[in-house]
Amino acid sequence: MTQTDFIGRLQANVGADIVLRAADANLDRHSRDFLNVMRDDVAILGVAYPRTAEQVSAILVACQADEVPVVPQGGLTSMVGGPVPTRSSLVLSLDRMRAIEEIDEAAGTMTVQAGCILEMVQRSADEAGFFFPLDLGGRGSAQVGGLISTNAGGNRVLRYGMMRESVLGIEAVLPDGTIIHSLNKMLKNNAGYDLKQLFIGAEGTLGVITRAVLRLYPKPLSTNTALLAVADYTRLLALLQRTKTAFGGELGAFEAMWPDMYRLGTVALDRQPPIAIGHGLYILIETLGTDPERSPVQFEEVLGSMIEDGLAEDIVIAASERQRQDMWAIRDCPGEFSKMFWPQRSYDISLPTGAIGDFVTRCTAALRERWPGIGTAFWGHIADSNLHLSLNLPDPDGAALDKAVYEFTGAYGGSISAEHGIGSMKRAYLHYSRTPEEIATMRLLKHAFDPKGIMNPDKVI
Ligand SMILES: Cc1cc2nc3c(=O)[nH]c(=O)nc-3n(C[C@H](O)[C@H](O)[C@H](O)COP(=O)(O)OP(=O)(O)OC[C@H]3O[C@@H](n4cnc5c(N)ncnc54)[C@H](O)[C@@H]3O)c2cc1C
Repeated sequence: MTQTDFIGRLQANVGADIVLRAADANLDRHSRDFLNVMRDDVAILGVAYPRTAEQVSAILVACQADEVPVVPQGGLTSMVGGPVPTRSSLVLSLDRMRAIEEIDEAAGTMTVQAGCILEMVQRSADEAGFFFPLDLGGRGSAQVGGLISTNAGGNRVLRYGMMRESVLGIEAVLPDGTIIHSLNKMLKNNAGYDLKQLFIGAEGTLGVITRAVLRLYPKPLSTNTALLAVADYTRLLALLQRTKTAFGGELGAFEAMWPDMYRLGTVALDRQPPIAIGHGLYILIETLGTDPERSPVQFEEVLGSMIEDGLAEDIVIAASERQRQDMWAIRDCPGEFSKMFWPQRSYDISLPTGAIGDFVTRCTAALRERWPGIGTAFWGHIADSNLHLSLNLPDPDGAALDKAVYEFTGAYGGSISAEHGIGSMKRAYLHYSRTPEEIATMRLLKHAFDPKGIMNPDKVI
């Protein structure tokens, strides 16, 4: 049986408008994610754009019968090759499943199809008088299915948790075509195994997510944002403790930027730095308050005391939504690295919070000694113990760089993936962060769900 036969039969089964032959599809779009491009020796056999879970089911039944690998794709903002085929495969794109099906005000939930884009979810929640808190730089492209499959984190984990905390229910299709309707809307439901958890963070290796019930929150009534400069990491830690105590549950973001990253986000992009270049560290702090009168006053008082007590060297408080967005644009500048920091090798690790400052110093020194002239950019969701690192070398030896960074991470007792997942890029290093028993249990699960290994092969384990 030829591969062409497979696509032809699939077209006959689900429709030629649903499954495109490779020659008719936009292969450039479907053969890359944000950082990784498909190898030349790999072929995309065709691209399926289902509109319903039933069509996804029919596609997976056909793939399973012919043992054709299938790669789910969302917004393709992955940094780790998760949606990039590594062997000849059918691509299953969720691009046509974008509907927001229901907002249930009493339950505080939104039911969406998996291809719905994060920005749409945020906007629709806002229009309905609610708040969907998950936010990240890829918000204009990342889809709900991709965010769930990577258990995405982002800028407000400190207050609202990762994607896992915002998912109440899921509809997913198993590799054998079984549709699991688990569109729970209740906060409490302990009736047996919580099946949705298996798909959260599974990176498309156990099935295809087709719908989800998302948890909505009350809108914050007062958003207060500031950029601070501190001399060193010790002061940053003291400042973190102080803000946690002062703001409690209202602390929404605590984002640290090392000078290399701050320079990229400002002068390298021709933007006026709100605080001068030359400080040891920069911090973006945001509170999401409940009292529009009291919260801004308290924000100013607490931050003012940081200067008085010598913790902060300089502070700028955003005086308008425009200024707030400008501050976040500096923090979100990795989305613009292709303009001035390319090629880049990107890392997303977690480390014990107290060790992050030392890690940055020693890791930078070790990298510069081995690769003189290497460009580095460090930033992170420090309150979540999450550090991001991007490296820029004209002709990078990716494997050698990866090994150096992950060995360093392992030595500090850290994790090789804080939020982006494993995909294909970190698979060889999973053992730095997981025990043999953990990996064996993951393989057991994978085999139980996908005995023929058709779902997103060569990813995670
Ligand atoms: C500028 C920028 C900033 C970012 N910042 C952050 C950040 O702060 N925090 C963070 O966590 N991530 C961040 N990311 C990474 C990225 O946005 C997330 O990994 C996102 O969750 C991926 O969603 P996606 O729809 O693009 O999925 P894709 O990239 O298309 O796919 C990701 C994985 O999910 C699988 N998948 C996709 N859809 C489905 C589905 N419906 N069913 C089953 N499997 C599926 C794919 O096979 C793949 O393994 C950032 C990315 C960019 C480009």
